[in-house]
Order: sequence, then structure tokens, then C-alpha cells
Amino acid sequence: MLVSEHDGAVAVIRLDNPPVNGLSHHVRETIFAGIEAALGNPEIKAIVLTGAGKIFCGGADLRQFNTPAASAEPSLQLLTERMEASAKPIIAAIDGVAYGGGFELALACHYRVVSPRAQVALPEVKLGLIPGCGGTQRLPRLIGVAPALQMIVGGDPVDAAKAVQLGIADDLIEGDFLAGALAFAERMTAVTAPHPIDIERTAMIADSQDFFSTARAKAAKEKRGFPAPLECIACVEAAVNLPRQEGLAFERQRFIALLNGTESKALRHLFFAEREAAKITGLSSPQETRPITRVGVLGAGTMGAGIAMCFANADIPVTLMEVQQEALDRGLALIRKNYATTVSKGKLSQEKMEHRLGLIEGTLKYEAFSSADLVIEAVFEDMKVKKEVFGRLDQVCKAGAILASNTSRLDINEIAGSTSRPGDVIGLHFFSPANVMRLLEVVRGAKTADDVVATAMQLAKSINKIGVLVGVCDGFVGNRMLTPYSREANFLIEEGASVLQVDQALYDFGMAMGPFAMADMAGLDIGRAARLRQAATRPAHLRYSRVADQICDMGRFGQKTSAGFYRYETSSRIPIPDPEIEALIERCAREDNIQRGPVSSEEIVQRTIYALINEGARILEEEIAQRSSDIDTVYVNGYGFPAYRGGPMFYADSIGLDKVYARICEFHRRHGEYWEPAPLLERLAKEGKRFSSI
Ligand code: NAD
Repeated sequence: MLVSEHDGAVAVIRLDNPPVNGLSHHVRETIFAGIEAALGNPEIKAIVLTGAGKIFCGGADLRQFNTPAASAEPSLQLLTERMEASAKPIIAAIDGVAYGGGFELALACHYRVVSPRAQVALPEVKLGLIPGCGGTQRLPRLIGVAPALQMIVGGDPVDAAKAVQLGIADDLIEGDFLAGALAFAERMTAVTAPHPIDIERTAMIADSQDFFSTARAKAAKEKRGFPAPLECIACVEAAVNLPRQEGLAFERQRFIALLNGTESKALRHLFFAEREAAKITGLSSPQETRPITRVGVLGAGTMGAGIAMCFANADIPVTLMEVQQEALDRGLALIRKNYATTVSKGKLSQEKMEHRLGLIEGTLKYEAFSSADLVIEAVFEDMKVKKEVFGRLDQVCKAGAILASNTSRLDINEIAGSTSRPGDVIGLHFFSPANVMRLLEVVRGAKTADDVVATAMQLAKSINKIGVLVGVCDGFVGNRMLTPYSREANFLIEEGASVLQVDQALYDFGMAMGPFAMADMAGLDIGRAARLRQAATRPAHLRYSRVADQICDMGRFGQKTSAGFYRYETSSRIPIPDPEIEALIERCAREDNIQRGPVSSEEIVQRTIYALINEGARILEEEIAQRSSDIDTVYVNGYGFPAYRGGPMFYADSIGLDKVYARICEFHRRHGEYWEPAPLLERLAKEGKRFSSI
């Protein structure tokens, strides 16, 4: 609901549509009517537009996009044009956030005043869109092209002080905000000169040609494959080159094209997927969570050090344990180095760094975990070691403490079986670097207690991670899907594609890096350990690529040994194709009677990505993942899958499951049982359904 109040010569229109004062059809209608009424009342000299609660306006309702309600009149366009044309000054009084359409509404006002907690942003680009209601035309005219472009292409919020500094806000009001806004409006009634909106204020840039081409090159590099940043730039360029009305029409047309395109749908899908992932299905009742105020981390290697940082960053004290002083010192030094790098980049103060370091305490004794509410194990990936460690934890940890493993692939149920309290055991699978990567697979064991699951999911949020609940199997969701993906990449190089060609095709598809560059980065010994473990259950008649094992036999373990699938110059991470490896691949193929020939980029992408999709369908059917969008969340946030394709399952839906299924059947005929179509995929394809429909 929205009320219109009068205060002397100033009308106040208040947006009141909890939770974010979203611009629903009703809200637009009421603002429009409020403005018409104020314009028709000779006693009213100015209008203040403000928001109820601690927010101005969060913008359009995402769920209303692509629905008739979104375009029903008065549209936001009509409303903003009406406001802009008003002879009486309209003042946006921004207390709290003004985002997206909410900020565009404020930009169509003649003046803006802000409270100290105000924040303004045009975040549309993050959902594959551009501001669709004048934002790209009005903001450059208001504050100049360069800062406007930065806000529109970056999508990040600007606080009150910065808003004043940039010229977005005309005044910062401390104290009674509404009284201050009304006083400001009163002053504006006395202004005889035209109000600012009437003046073309685009601060033209000296050499616009160069400016925009530089901006395009930067966006293409930093946001490779994303169309929206380039469209943002095109619209700001239009603001410079076209009259206002033509610029607005250009922006509208580009907005609609993006709105109907796959990329924005993919990004909106991921936006909702991330929120959906936090919901836990199958809990007996709403669960009380266990308090986590002190955490223990076991193993101060690559993962343990990063995990300890995650908690220190969230102001939770951590005890970090190692078996030997030397390893502990190395881990603590790694943590200090990581923080120091952040400080040197100006992203953390020295004081905060010291505070966080002070929260991490090193130890060589299990007894130090006696008061921990949660202990996360990150020791070697070896079941025997893990069981031993959990046996010890069982002895020293207090009743009710949660015992978690960061294992990448091992059986959480077996690990839990080495304790007397399997209900308290859970998997917390962080990704490397753990202090940076936002994904956290929360692995529910067969006996994990419901409140332990609920606590882990809530904890993910409090340490700023995206928790995705998964079940127990070799590799859970992410690494399990990686297995057939890597398998196909290895088969393709035996069949005639070069290592570089496979990596390039998948990089061009949008992956952060190709599978071989990734394997070299992670360390080839990791994959080998997993293959060795799987060897016992791998049927002997199935094709197996020996290439990676032979590379390991040469002592090449990837970047850490300056050689793997590629070679690397000393202290460089740039992969250089290596003829020695190509010769090894040819030899392996010859020995295994594999016919070599040209392989197209299309084949490379389909063989690897469809392998992900087929495995994803099995994971879904086995209920290892709760929903297909969870698989997308895992793959985009943990494995470098291009966000603008929405994740492997959304990508399959966007191609059409019938087409994906048909191609997988063809691979099945050509390459045998690895490619047996997942029953769920087959069923959905035949019923004309999508993964997202189940
Ligand atoms: P790492 O070799 O870098 O570190 C392991 C550390 O554990 C070593 O410092 C070692 O001294 C210590 N350790 C061994 N036994 C111990 C014991 N009994 N008590 C205390 N400390 C002990 O290994 P990592 O890469 O950090 O991997 C650790 C775990 O995390 C593994 O289970 C791995 O599968 C998993 N993981 C690794 C990655 C990755 O990318 N490296 C990603 C996700 C999960």
C-alpha cells in the first residue's frame, strides 16, 4: 500500500510495499495517481517521494519479469517520463537502498537527498540485463560518463557519502530524515531557474571513440562471454550520441532483447537457485541449530589453512592442529601470507589482519579441541588416516560437537562409523582456495542428525558460503560429475584432438579453464589417487586412458612440478603445449588400437558437457542432489561452468532434453556403455519435460 500525505506546500508520496517496496503494478499506479493529484492541487509546490521502513525501493519484482503485470500501464517508463516532465520539483528522499528500478525512479526526480544509510545501485548487469528504464541515459547526464559507466557495468552499490561526492545526491541529511527532506523541498520551491532535469548535463568525454573501445575491451576480458556489460556500454554511448528520447528508446529495445535472451534467463535461474539451495528437504520438523562459537581445524595444509581463514574472517575463533611443528608453522605462515597479500591490495586493514590472525591458534594436541563446537578434518585423502583421526576426535570432543570431514570423495558413512556418534558426523566439502571459493557441499550421511544438517547449512551462510546439501557417493555432486567429464577429455586426446584443442574448445564454450589446464593446476596426483581407488571396481572390459597415469610416472604432477599435460617455465603458470606429451598420447592410442583423426570443437564440447549432464541426471534420480538447480549451483560456483549458461542442467533444458538424449544415444552406439543414457534423462526427454520441471 502507498499513502499520499500533504505537509504544507509539499506532498509526500510514500512507497509502502514490504519487504522491499518493490515496483508492483499497484505501486506504480498509486505513485502515478499521487503525482497527478499533487500536480492538480495549486497549494502543492513540491513533491517528496520516499519509502516506508528502512528502504527506498528495491526495484522491480524479479518474479514479475516476463509477465503482463510488468508491462501493465502505468509502466515504469510512463511514470518516470511523467515525473521528469513535472513542472513542480520532485525530490527523491532515499533512506536505505534504492536499487535497479528503484534508483531509476529516483533518477527521474529533479533532486535526490540521502540519509547516511542510503545506498544506490544499478545491479541489473548481474542478472544479465541493463537498466531498462532510463538508468543508462539519466545517470551519465547526471554524473558524467566515466563514473556512470562504472556503476552500470559493475552493478555495485554506492553509499551515501559517495553518492553526494559523485553528484547523484544533492544533500546528505543527518538526524530527522523526513523533516530534512521536507525542508529541502521547501527550499526548492523557491528556485526560479529550471530544475536540473531540464538541462542536458552529459559531461562529454574528450575522445569518446577511444573511451568506449577501451571499456569494451575491458568488459570482454573481465566478463568474457557475458553480453550484458557490452550492452550497458552501448547504451551509455547512446546517451552521449543520441538525443534523450532516442537514447531511451535504444535502451528499451536492448533491455527487451536481453530480457528474452538465454543469458539473462540463465543468470536469473542461478539467482533463484542459490536461494533455493538453502532450503532443506526431508527434515522431520523445523530444527533448532547448535551454537557454533569455537571451531577446530585438523590439518594445516592447502585446505586446512584456507578453512581456518573462513572462520577467522567471520570472527569465529579457530584452533588449527597439525602433527608436527614444522607443518603447523608452514600452515600458519601460509595464512599470514594470504592475509598480507589482501592487505597489500588495500582490501583489508593491517589492524583487521592482526585481529583475524589473533583468532587462529595453532596446536599439536587433540586435547585443544575439547571445547570446540565443530571440528573440521582436512588431513590426507586416505580412509585409514581419516578413520584414525575421527576415532581420536570421538575421544576428545565434547558431547554435541559436530565432527566434519573435508574429504573430496570418501565415504562419510564409513568415516562416521569410526566414531561412537555417527549422528554428529557430516561432510563439509570446501573448494580450493577455501577462503575464496564460495561453494560448500554439505554432505549428509545416512545417520547424520537433522539438527546437524540444519546447523551446517546455517553455518555456510554465516561464513558467507553457498551451502548445497548433497548425499554420500564417490565425489558427491561436483567431483562425481567431474569423473566422466575428465574421462571424455582424455579419450578425445587419444582420438586425435590435441591437449590445447580440448582446453580451447571448452574455454571458448565459457569454462573458466579447460580440463587439462585445470588438472595441472589441481595436481595430477589427486586424479591418480582417485583412479587408483576406483580401479578395484572398474570393469576390466571398459576403455581406460593410461595417458594421465603415464604422465605421473614421468614425475610430472602439473604446475607444482612445472610439468604435467603442459610444460611451464620456472615460476610461471602459463601452460605451454609439449610435443613430448603429444607423442606419449599418440603412443598410448596406438598401443590401444585407437583410430586417430580430426575432432571438431562441437564434438569436444558435446562429449564433455553431455557427460556432465548424463551424470547429473543420475545424481538427481539417486537423490544425491535435492534438485537440479542445486547441481547448477555447484557447477557454476565450484567448477568454473559459465554462469551465462546457467549450469549444466539448465543448459540441457535450454537445448531441449530430446536433443541431448538423442546425441547421448548416438554416443552410446559409438562409444559403448559409458554412455548409457540416464533413465531420468530418457524419461523426461520422451515426456517432453525439463530437469527444472521435476
Ligand atoms: P595437504 O596435503 O595440503 O594437507 C594435509 C595436511 O594434513 C598436511 O599438512 C599434513 O601434515 C596434515 N595431516 C596429515 N595427517 C594428520 C593428522 N593425523 N593430524 C593432523 N594433521 C595431519 O592436503 P589438502 O589439499 O589440504 O587436502 C586435505 C583434504 O581436503 C583431503 O581430504 C582432500 O581430499 C580435501 N580437499 C582438497 C582439495 C584441494 O583442492 N586440495 C579440495 C577439496 C577438498
